[in-house]
Formats: sequence, C-alpha cells, structure tokens
Amino acid sequence: MAIILDGKSLAKNTESALSERVGRFKEKTGRAPQLATILVGDDPSSATYVKMKGNACARVGMLSVRIEMGKDTTTEQLVGKINALNADPLIDGILLQHPVPRQIDERAAFEAISIDKDVDGVTCLGFGLMSMGVDVYGSATPAGIMRLFDHYNIEIEGKHAVVVGRSPILGKPMAMMLLNRNATVTTCHSKTRNLSELIRQADIVVGALGKPEFIQSDWIKDGAVIIDAGYHPGGIGDIDLKAASLKASAYTPVPGGVGPMTISTLILQTMEAAEKSAGIKS
Ligand code: NAP
Repeated sequence: MAIILDGKSLAKNTESALSERVGRFKEKTGRAPQLATILVGDDPSSATYVKMKGNACARVGMLSVRIEMGKDTTTEQLVGKINALNADPLIDGILLQHPVPRQIDERAAFEAISIDKDVDGVTCLGFGLMSMGVDVYGSATPAGIMRLFDHYNIEIEGKHAVVVGRSPILGKPMAMMLLNRNATVTTCHSKTRNLSELIRQADIVVGALGKPEFIQSDWIKDGAVIIDAGYHPGGIGDIDLKAASLKASAYTPVPGGVGPMTISTLILQTMEAAEKSAGIKS
C-alpha cells in the first residue's frame, strides 16, 4: 500500500503549531505578524488564491493586508507599492500573486521585494542563495513539497529525481532543493526528448508541467515516490494518479497534497520573517 503524502493534514498540524507561535510573538512584541498580499488585475483564480492565503493568516491569528491594483497598473506603480511595503516595519512578508497583467514586467516587480520579506521565495537573490545552500525562504510550493518529504521520512539522498517543469516558482527551485539534499536530479521541460524514458528511471517524480494527467502510469517505475503539483478543473493533477498511485510507494493526492503545503509554507515563512525582524529565536 502506498503512503499518502497528506498535505492537508500536515498543513492543519502546522497551523495549530503556528497559532501558538503567533500567540507567543504577540506577547513579546504587542503585535501580530503581518503578510501583505498584492493582487493586480481581475483574474478570478488569482483572487481565490489570495483570499485563501488571507484566510490561512486569519486562522492562525496573523494579520494580512490585501492590496488590490487595477488591471492597467504599470510596473512603476507596482514597484512603488512594493517599495512602500518594504519600508513598512509592520509588514513582515510580501506576496505578489502570479501572474500579473501582461504590460507589467513581473520579474522587475518580484525583484523589488526585499529579501527579508520575500516569504514566497520569488526573487533571484533568494533563488541564488537557496541554490548555494544558504538558509533563506524557499519558493513556497517546492519548499512545501520538501516539508512533506521530511515529515514522511522520504529518503532523498542518492535517489534519482525527475522534475517535469522548470518554471521559476516551481520546477527550477524544486530541482535545486532536491540537488541540495543529494538527489541526482534530471530536469525536464517542453523540449525534452524521451520524457517517458527519463521518468521510467525515476525514484522520485515531480509533475509540475501544468497539463492534465499528462504523465502516464506506465511511465512510473514500481515503488517510485510521486509528487503531483498540478491542479486542474475536476480535481485532477499533472499525473494519471488513479493508476500511477497503484505502482507508487508514496504519492501526493490531488487535491489535498501539494496545494495546502504551498499556503502553509507561505504563512510559516511569514512567521519566521516576523520573528527574525523582532530578534526572536523560534
Ligand atoms: P508554467 O510556468 O506554465 O511552467 C510549466 C513548465 O512545464 C515549463 O517549464 C514547461 O517547459 C514545462 N512543460 C510544458 N509542457 C511540457 C511537456 N509536454 N513536457 C515536459 N515539460 C513541459 O507552470 P507552473 O507555474 O510551474 O505550474 C505547473 C503546474 O503546477 C500547474 O498545473 C499549476 O497549476 C501547478 N501549481 C500548483 C501550485 C500549488 O500550490 N499546488 C503552485 C504553483 C503551480 P518550458 O520551460 O520549456 O516551457
């Protein structure tokens, strides 16, 4: 029987522990940790994600301020807002919801976030430091996946991990995090040849390509650990999980696997940023 890597339940446990940690922080500082979320434009999915992140803050007693900017916002206006949040001592973390409208230089906006407040792990500096093994806030989705591996004692060292997808927020940092933990990592993308052959060699497969049930069960090696980061209408991911989970030694369900870990990691990292700025050791 495969182990279900239950992100929903781990995120719930994390929230209980965080509620207590927020209480201790409030006693010491007289304030609650605060996350600023920035939503630009009117994409309904992005609005839902931002709402979910704000709700998670509220559940653990953290504050969140939601900044909404119109769909015609310029890069300069967005960067100006981020700079103001960087300078605000009551803001501990900044989340800029991806994607932003096309006229905005999203990379420039991400780069404006101060490294101390980059709790979603989106800056080049944060990525570079993480890649070098420095303890910084990792990109929330892959960092959440690493927390799942650790919670379930999934062995990483010496394993062959195949990451399908190389986006700046998911595939690339995922590959680096696994490499830092001594996995042998293959990163695949849309130009990869023989994808199925590479996946057949994998002890750990991370599906992060954004295509519904693209990764087939007969590509999965018996006993592999399967991480499905995809989420599509109808509650399906990037892997044909129904069949693939029968061959796996462990897998993340969709929904209830990776998704809750992303939000949980974001608020955990906001807590850590608040403690760091207040000089509190957790
Ligand atoms: P993205 O920016 O669109 O990147 C997709 C990546 O997959 C790209 O690197 C692309 O390659 C690669 N790819 C596309 N088609 C491929 C193919 N046929 N074979 C191999 N690689 C292929 O997507 P993303 O933001 O990383 O998201 C990926 C998935 O994760 C989506 O389903 C998204 O909804 C999900 N996601 C979930 C969470 C969560 O919290 N659960 C968070 C973020 C994302 P190229 O680089 O060559 O274009």
